[in-house]
Amino acid sequence: MKLPATIADRVIEAIASLDPATGGPADRYGVAQRAFPLLADVGGCCLLRPDGEFLQIAWDTSEDSPTVLGTIPLAALVVGAERFPWLRELVPVRSPQAIDCQTCAGTGKIRRGEVSGILCGDCSVLGWVVPDSDPSRPRFEIGQTVTVVLNERNRTPHTGTIRAFMWHHQLQRWHYFLDEDGKAISKRYAAEDLFPVA
Ligand SMILES: [Zn+2]
Repeated sequence: MKLPATIADRVIEAIASLDPATGGPADRYGVAQRAFPLLADVGGCCLLRPDGEFLQIAWDTSEDSPTVLGTIPLAALVVGAERFPWLRELVPVRSPQAIDCQTCAGTGKIRRGEVSGILCGDCSVLGWVVPDSDPSRPRFEIGQTVTVVLNERNRTPHTGTIRAFMWHHQLQRWHYFLDEDGKAISKRYAAEDLFPVA
């Protein structure tokens, strides 16, 4: 995902402000990788590069070879924007058709037993989803840029443009197909799997 220039500049500034001497392991790693740690915990960290590349590392297994994603997973973006307001313009804006996510009751976080504050995968922590509302026309247009919502069905982040859509008679819903960086993604997506990107 190419970042807007203003945000890329903020990422560069944020990396420059990291202090490997006083910061934690995520800061040291950020300096070494020229990437800004958006999220870090005892298990690992997620970092953003000015070119929009997103690194995921687990401290115990992949410190030398981080997973590099071409885009920021939406959930990471939403959580990162809570701490770093300059990321907010990348977060999808709630549309009038959106409804509160039922899984998390609109909060973006869920509770499992004693553990609260678990990030909701069904809405990527946004707290809302867009239902498949109008069957007479698809929600997205050919060529429109969208990002894939990471959830139980979708483990692979993609941001691309709508290549085609198809009405599925049996399921009574539209399916969408994407191109990413000029290459066709074979997977088909439902409307709730996708968010428009400005
Ligand atoms: Zn939710």
